[in-house]
Amino acid sequence: MYIGIDLGGTNIAAGVVDEAGHIIYKSSVLTLAQRPIEEIVEDMADLCVDIVDGANCSIVDIEAVGVGCPGTVDNKSGIIAYSCNLKMKNTELRAMLEKRLGKRINLENDANAAALGEYAINGDDADSFVLITLGTGVGGGVIIDGKPYRGFNCAGGELGHIIINAEGEEQCSCGNKGCWEAYASVTALIRQTKQAMQADSSSMIHKWVQENGEVSGRTAFDCAKKGDKAATAVVEQYIRYVGMGLISILNIFQPSKILIGGGISKEGNYLLNPLREYVYAGDYNKYREKTKIEAATLFNDAGIIGAALSVCN
Ligand SMILES: [Zn+2]
Repeated sequence: MYIGIDLGGTNIAAGVVDEAGHIIYKSSVLTLAQRPIEEIVEDMADLCVDIVDGANCSIVDIEAVGVGCPGTVDNKSGIIAYSCNLKMKNTELRAMLEKRLGKRINLENDANAAALGEYAINGDDADSFVLITLGTGVGGGVIIDGKPYRGFNCAGGELGHIIINAEGEEQCSCGNKGCWEAYASVTALIRQTKQAMQADSSSMIHKWVQENGEVSGRTAFDCAKKGDKAATAVVEQYIRYVGMGLISILNIFQPSKILIGGGISKEGNYLLNPLREYVYAGDYNKYREKTKIEAATLFNDAGIIGAALSVCN
């Protein structure tokens, strides 16, 4: 068995995972990311002890521990080159954890880990596979022959930073303008929904906010389903934004399967049917079998499972 740790800016989630990628037991604690990394490592180690207990096994049953972490993660040298969420720069996280746990450790970028997790459960052993996670940003992981594509310097596969709008004024977290993430993340959808709301005082979005609190990634979808014009326009435009990036991914990789993850994938075919229609229309490939585009299913568990299985490659 393996341990997978999803080290996020808010939570540290960890699970005991079997070879097939099933979580036997999992738990989480707050990251409190402003603390010194030594304290975070202590909590990661304590969490490992807790979940091994919870899974009714012993630490000797654990073959290795994988850690998914945001940022530029060098899994060859075991160093977090840079992570803005966790204030790490050239941090020797692998050595620190190895010393504390006495186990083989592998570090992996968190988006790659999530992709590995979805691939293990929903990948059908495809030779090429992509997970796109629509969240605060747009995360992407490319799996080729069962392994994450990392680029020569471990900074590759950052699909959220494909530029989809050359004249785009939306500022991205990476410093560029016009990135896919700046238009297709849930953060962007919320901004687009608020703009539509301000422009149309008769929109149902106002009532939704009164009843449900703040605008979320669900707001425009909920109101569009009830026939609201402004919300429908937001959803249609958002689907085009998501689709534009996907067309590039299709044309570069022609992966066997693309899964869409993040809370928004709960919209199911209401999102996926028009998205497929838009993407396939822009697909260079007109004559060969089409890439499958489906919803991811594991949500937050993908990172734990993928981190655990990352120790195998
Ligand atoms: Zn960017």
